[in-house]
Amino acid sequence: MNLDVKEIFYSLQGEGGRQGEASIFIRLAGCNLKCDFCDTDFEDGTEMTRETIHTIIRQFPCQWIIWTGGEPTLQLTDDILWFFNNKGYKQAVESNGTQKLSPIFDYTVVSPKGSLAYAKQINPQVDELRLPIKENDSLPEIEWLPKAKKYFASPIFTDNPLQTKANIDHCVKQILSRPQWRLSLQIHKLIGIE
Ligand code: SF4
Repeated sequence: MNLDVKEIFYSLQGEGGRQGEASIFIRLAGCNLKCDFCDTDFEDGTEMTRETIHTIIRQFPCQWIIWTGGEPTLQLTDDILWFFNNKGYKQAVESNGTQKLSPIFDYTVVSPKGSLAYAKQINPQVDELRLPIKENDSLPEIEWLPKAKKYFASPIFTDNPLQTKANIDHCVKQILSRPQWRLSLQIHKLIGIE
């Protein structure tokens, strides 16, 4: 029942449909993919009980948890989700689209990094679909993806400002021709918060 936790921090959701909302981020260690653009350190977590996690997060004046990773659903069980649900927390998850999501989550974000068809098959309906986009990537047809309340294209931020700008410009161009999509900028990177 213990979780391998990479980090816990309190900040604003930087992207997508809940952008700007205060949230407790719980980043779980481990991922089942190795994306070449991955900018997240998810190795070498610390084992924690759910009670320890609760002791840490109850210092924050906020009832929204965002489970992130890595791929958080590799570790999360319904028992763990009910534990925090019973403590009064709302729980969002950010998943790479390779795992079926529990109905206990209050807000689901799928950011498919593997097969789009498989992501749709295992989670036909999600709250938010968010796709990382770099220069020259094309936005897929909405029909290929899980049905979502909102579809976000998220330009990839890199260490090279010119490349980041090119990714953003490309994304904007794509959205102008595919208006079912909307832009999600990673504001936490723009304003220098965690
Ligand atoms: S799925 Fe996400 S966390 Fe895992 S390797 Fe890809 S970008 Fe990184």
